[in-house]
Amino acid sequence: MGTLRRLVRGSVVVLVVLVAVVAAGALSGPGGIPWAVPVTVLPGAPPVPPPPPPPEKPRDRPTPEDDPRTTPIGVPLPPPPGGGTHAFTKLQDDGVTPVAYDPCKPVHYVLRPQGAPAGAEAIVHEAVARIAEVTGLRFVHDGYSDEPMAVDRPIFQPERYGDRWAPVLIGWHTEQEVPALAGDVVGQAGSAAVSLGSGPRVYVTGSVALDAPQLAPVLDRRDGRAVVAAIVLHELGHLVGLAHVEDAGQLMYPKVQEELTDLAAGDLAGLARLGAGPCVPQL
Ligand SMILES: [Zn+2]
Repeated sequence: MGTLRRLVRGSVVVLVVLVAVVAAGALSGPGGIPWAVPVTVLPGAPPVPPPPPPPEKPRDRPTPEDDPRTTPIGVPLPPPPGGGTHAFTKLQDDGVTPVAYDPCKPVHYVLRPQGAPAGAEAIVHEAVARIAEVTGLRFVHDGYSDEPMAVDRPIFQPERYGDRWAPVLIGWHTEQEVPALAGDVVGQAGSAAVSLGSGPRVYVTGSVALDAPQLAPVLDRRDGRAVVAAIVLHELGHLVGLAHVEDAGQLMYPKVQEELTDLAAGDLAGLARLGAGPCVPQL
């Protein structure tokens, strides 16, 4: 496969900083409190301010859960002794902690079946299971979607997915559909991070675009399934927050190496940290 030379150099990360939630008292509903004692206004006193308006549902994000989980669902695999080379796509303001998915919430994903090569769906689920095993993040397959892949994909699409963050979208595409797959790029992946005020950033959704015309012929080869599976695993590494490294012994090396079909020590060390991010129940 002469065309299968390198993976996408960087992943697309859309950073969206949400405004802080305005605290609203539980008794601020319309009509006030019926048995409240009338307030006597003394001459010269400032007018009584009107009651605060009822809280509005935010329009740019899901309604927070009433009783969100505050402990991680799973536990990352212990990193290999000695670790290894890894890098993160985005760091918190401290400059060392990676931005990650919230380990207290499941990561939902949907597949876009249009254009998928035969046998490709099982490869995706297996790669997701491997990332889940290593990070401790829980992934939930929500079925299928015909949502088109877009660079500026909205992270909250209540009309399509309901009152929740849009699920991770994984699809097989041509470079006409996804220009980032032009040339010898075989995949593109990234996630969108949000924060509330000055709180930590967390990924809430993302996308993975795989180049169907380039990968389908590889799948047809006798040993091709493992190569494609490793490419999908590499892209899922980007999805959860790994960046490329210059160490050719790691799966996050930017070029496909057909003999390297699983995560290596540095990849595992990075993924263990990405599975130990903060929980942000308000998001
Ligand atoms: Zn890559």
